[in-house]
Amino acid sequence: MTSSFYPPQRTLMGPGPSDINPRISSAMARPTIGHLDPLFVGMMDEVKGLLQYAFQTSNELTIPISAPGSAGMECCFVNLIEPGDTVIICQNGVFGGRMKENVERCGGTAVMVHDQWGSACEPQKLEDALKLHPQAVAVAFVQAETSTGVSTDVKTLVDLAHRYDCLAIVDAVTSLGGTELRVDEWKIDAIYSGTQKCLSCTPGLSPVSFSQRAVDVIKKRKSTVQSWFLNLNLVMGYWGSGSKRAYHHTAPVNALYALHEALVILEEEGLENAWARHALNHNALKAGIEALGLSFVVPQANRLPQLNAVTIPEGIDDAAVRTALLNDYNLEIGAGLGPMAGKVWRIGLMGYAARKDNVLLCLSALDEVLTRMHAPVNQGKAVSAALATYAQ
Ligand SMILES: *Cc1c(COP(=O)(O)O)cnc(C)c1O
Repeated sequence: MTSSFYPPQRTLMGPGPSDINPRISSAMARPTIGHLDPLFVGMMDEVKGLLQYAFQTSNELTIPISAPGSAGMECCFVNLIEPGDTVIICQNGVFGGRMKENVERCGGTAVMVHDQWGSACEPQKLEDALKLHPQAVAVAFVQAETSTGVSTDVKTLVDLAHRYDCLAIVDAVTSLGGTELRVDEWKIDAIYSGTQKCLSCTPGLSPVSFSQRAVDVIKKRKSTVQSWFLNLNLVMGYWGSGSKRAYHHTAPVNALYALHEALVILEEEGLENAWARHALNHNALKAGIEALGLSFVVPQANRLPQLNAVTIPEGIDDAAVRTALLNDYNLEIGAGLGPMAGKVWRIGLMGYAARKDNVLLCLSALDEVLTRMHAPVNQGKAVSAALATYAQ
């Protein structure tokens, strides 16, 4: 007989999923009710309103897609891009590469603007590409590149896209709830996120939001959206306002309780306070990491507080350290991806994981494990450096 699965209680400080606030786990365990039950429909309306707050938008079409962040990405592309369209993609890590895959599967042409892994997307390069490809209909890029820990200046890139009459599609999977994001003020046309990063919710949902300009493009499409499940014209009938809801798919009822709770927690804290908390904990972690003698990959100006890429000391076995952290401390940090594999660790401070006890645990565990492995670190200095930051 197979027995029930009881996972250990880990501390999740990788690139996501992040630590779940216990309030969210308990919300998820509440009784399942029908997805067309009037009380559930009322809760869906609250989720939409709370998402508008999180995204800082009044966009009517602001909903969670019933699938993970990658589905939110796909939802933006399949609805906005038609065969023959040209899309300019700024890539500076893993996720821009996935955008290219999406555009090509929509029958479009992806024009890639590359920046180094660890650098932000360069506005001048985007402008050059826009001049060279006047037929482009959209520009897409990632605000918070989780593969490298880089933050890109959204407002500047969106302004450029609009100056050349393109829609702006933004990946906010790791930024929503963690760093400044203002959909209306920055005039973003289409944006998608995920629940398991700075919202600290369970994985499996993807909040999206579309401006009126984007909705008009969707309504004027010549071809049908090739995805039935992600076709927003159908999804809108399900999530649309008022009591008339057309059955589209069965909403993941309990997962939406979890998202509702995560967003209630965000509203209680206040969005700007949440951004400030991520920054504070990043500063404390940074003080500790530097006191240990380790360094950051990304220059300070473009560094994400919620995703810290730290250079692995020469001669130290990446996997052995992560395994020791997991086995001895129940602590998960992330490995490097692509060209950064084996060279960096990715330490996440996302949502509920962005707090003092996590920072101190991570620093003391790294201090002990690296000392044990004879790495050239300054033993015993990291925790007090972080505490000094909190005391300021
Ligand atoms: C995690 C992530 C995604 C993908 O989200 P999933 O929920 O894993 O599908 C997309 N973009 C970025 C920037 C991410 O960090």
